[in-house]
Amino acid sequence: MPDTNNIFLFSIDLEDVREGVVNGSLYKDRVVNNTLKYLDWLEKNNSTCTFFTVGKVAEKYPDLIKQIVRAGHEIACHSYSHTPLNLQTPESFKFDLEKNINALLKSGVESVKGFRAPVFSLTKDTSWAHEILAGCGITYSSSVLPADNPLYGWKEFGAAPKQINKKLIELPVTLNRFGPLNIPFAGGVYFRSFPFWFIRKSFKKYFKNNEPVLSYFHPYDLDSEQEKFMHAGINNSTLYNFLMYYNRKHMLSRLDKVVALDVKIMRYDDYIKNHLKNGV
Ligand SMILES: [Zn+2]
Repeated sequence: MPDTNNIFLFSIDLEDVREGVVNGSLYKDRVVNNTLKYLDWLEKNNSTCTFFTVGKVAEKYPDLIKQIVRAGHEIACHSYSHTPLNLQTPESFKFDLEKNINALLKSGVESVKGFRAPVFSLTKDTSWAHEILAGCGITYSSSVLPADNPLYGWKEFGAAPKQINKKLIELPVTLNRFGPLNIPFAGGVYFRSFPFWFIRKSFKKYFKNNEPVLSYFHPYDLDSEQEKFMHAGINNSTLYNFLMYYNRKHMLSRLDKVVALDVKIMRYDDYIKNHLKNGV
C-alpha cells in the first residue's frame, strides 16, 4: 500500500500573463526568469511536479521546456492559446488541443497525458470537453473548480476525483471554506492573499484525512518586479487586479512553510499511477 500521507500536487500553469492584455507584448518578457525560480525551488526540495503548459509558450521557449523535462518534471497541456472553454466550440477546442499536444511533442516532450483548462473553465456547460480530451489520448484532467466562483466553477461536480469514461479521470482542484467562501487555498492568488494560518490549517485538514492537496501557481505569482498592468480575464476589476500583484514577494517563503509540514511534492501522472489505482 503506497504511503498517501501529505501529498502536495504542486503544479505550475506555464503561460505568459501578457497574452490577452492589450499591447501585452510591450511589457517585459518574464516567463523564463520566473520559471527558473520555480525550477530552483523544486531542485532545492528534491521534488518533481507537473507543468501545465500553453502551446504557444512551448513554441516560443523550447529550451525552457527541455530544461523542465531534463529536471524530471511532467509536461501536460494547458491549451494552445489559453482561450477559456466557454469561448470555444467542441470543434475549435479539439483543434486547439491538438495544436497544444503537437507543440509540446515538438519541443521535446515524450508523451502528453494531462490537461488543465484555462482558468478552470471546464464546467457543466463545457463538459463536452471531457470526451474530446479522451479522444485525443489525454488520460487525466485537472480542470474543475468544484464550487461557485467569480469566474468559473462547477459546484455539483463534487470534490472527489471522478472517472469520467473508460479513458479519462478528472481531479478537481482542492478547496477549503473561509467564512462563506469555498476557495482553492493552494492556488496562486488565494495562496498569496489569505492569512497563512488558514493556508496551513487547510493543508493539515487534508493531510489528516490522507487526501492530497491539488494546486496551481503561475510564473507571475512569484514575480514582484513585473510591470503593473490590468490582467486579462478579471472583468476590469481593480480589486482583483490589486490581488493579482499582492504579496508576490512572499510566495516562495510561504511555499517553504508548506514544505515544512513534511509534504511530498509529486507529479500528477505519478500520483495517478501509484496512488489512485483502486481509489476511484
Ligand atoms: Zn492559465
